[in-house]
Amino acid sequence: MDGLPDRSGLAQDKCGVAGIAAERDVAPALYQAMRAIQHRGQESAGIATFDDGLQTIKGMGLVENIFQAKELEQLTGRVGLGHTRYSTAGTSRLENAHPVCVSSAEGSIALGHNGEIVNADGIREDLQESGWAFITDNDSEVIVRLFANELSDAKSPVRAMRRVMRQIVGAYSLVLVVGERILAVRDPRGIKPLALGKLPAAYGGQNGSESEVGGYAVASETVAIEALGGEPIRDVKPGEIVEITPGGYEGHMTNAQSADLAHCQFEYVYFSRADSRIDDREVYDVRVGIGEQLANESPVDADIVVPVPDSGRSHALGFARQLDLPMAEGLMKNRYVHRTFIMPSQEERASGVNIKLNPVQSVVEGNRVVLVDDSIVRGTTMGQLTDMLREAGAEEVHVRIGCPPIQAPCYLGIDMKTREELIAADKSVEEIRDTIGADSLAYVSIPGLKRAIGKPEGSLCTGCLTGRYPVDIPGEEHRKQETLF
Ligand code: SF4
Repeated sequence: MDGLPDRSGLAQDKCGVAGIAAERDVAPALYQAMRAIQHRGQESAGIATFDDGLQTIKGMGLVENIFQAKELEQLTGRVGLGHTRYSTAGTSRLENAHPVCVSSAEGSIALGHNGEIVNADGIREDLQESGWAFITDNDSEVIVRLFANELSDAKSPVRAMRRVMRQIVGAYSLVLVVGERILAVRDPRGIKPLALGKLPAAYGGQNGSESEVGGYAVASETVAIEALGGEPIRDVKPGEIVEITPGGYEGHMTNAQSADLAHCQFEYVYFSRADSRIDDREVYDVRVGIGEQLANESPVDADIVVPVPDSGRSHALGFARQLDLPMAEGLMKNRYVHRTFIMPSQEERASGVNIKLNPVQSVVEGNRVVLVDDSIVRGTTMGQLTDMLREAGAEEVHVRIGCPPIQAPCYLGIDMKTREELIAADKSVEEIRDTIGADSLAYVSIPGLKRAIGKPEGSLCTGCLTGRYPVDIPGEEHRKQETLF
């Protein structure tokens, strides 16, 4: 994955979220779950638990640096949520870290959010007019204050959330702690993932039986449930509110909006871990299938296939297998450097590429190389990698990409907001090939990508590939026009 563009000004949330209800203190388990989804955000993290009141600890940095044994001991309670977040330099502040907590007539509420609400500004203005004060410019604070407002009237958390879902538009996978229960909520289009699972007896079984369920968990990805020795049960359904307590869970469907499904294609292509399952598809399987599809669409006469580690590995495997070419580790990764695109500033990302990857000369020297990655956003990283391979002696460097050209911003939870920073927004494939210095360049087609993901026609969001989004984006037509002049 080439570095995602920098953004400033607005607070945005593209994150990992987890919630646990069990028969004993859940903070240590939340810590483990958050580490399993640390790749979804490395800028800040937080945990909130409920034990006769809400307790919250948040900090900047990695989960393991924020939470030591002392912090986890302070966070008592049988229900809780954890959140990992990334954002841009302009919003790299502790007050924007999650969970977002507010007081309500029914007690304190904590929220963790993955996604983005496109009509948050209008709702914020309405709430401000009726006397609510906001601490951040964060769309997640709008959700939790709206929920608190509705809860004072509706009394029931599920009823209050139904009312909230009638008003908010966009991408949201939410976990809330409301007293001794968790609410797990997924937007009606199912844009961002959210999985539900059960935990083993070790998390608080009563009768010592190994088959006993020790509690329940929700998380952005199934890997977080599996990291606890748990078992995924199912995805939270698009438009569903799941109420979870240590003793069980109950799903409540809503008809907040009659919406077509729009699962984020980018979760399959890049964002989720390959060993996660989203809406019944294993991400690894999808990525290998994309590589095979890419090989069928754009074969190349070459000696070896080299993945960009780790993001291009599964795609490269499918590509190599389909063309019966050897796959080799022609680029080595320093595992102690974080993913470049979630580093907040462009400067950090640029220096990150140089220390993150290094060519293996004996693999590439004298060979015609196919370099495979999942996506290109800016193109800067890919240009550096083709240079690296040539300097290491590659005779030819052909680039194959497992995501169609990203031509339009994402307003639904992935940090790609401006066309100016997307290389494919105003360049043809041939111009991009020239810019990155490749001998040839090909992307998987949109129909090919859809086929590999294997979802029914019309159930994927491809907004960043086509400029057509599953919800109306305020101001988008205007922004599109601006780029024409
Ligand atoms: S616009 Fe692209 S990145 Fe954003 S939700 Fe849709 S598919 Fe995902």
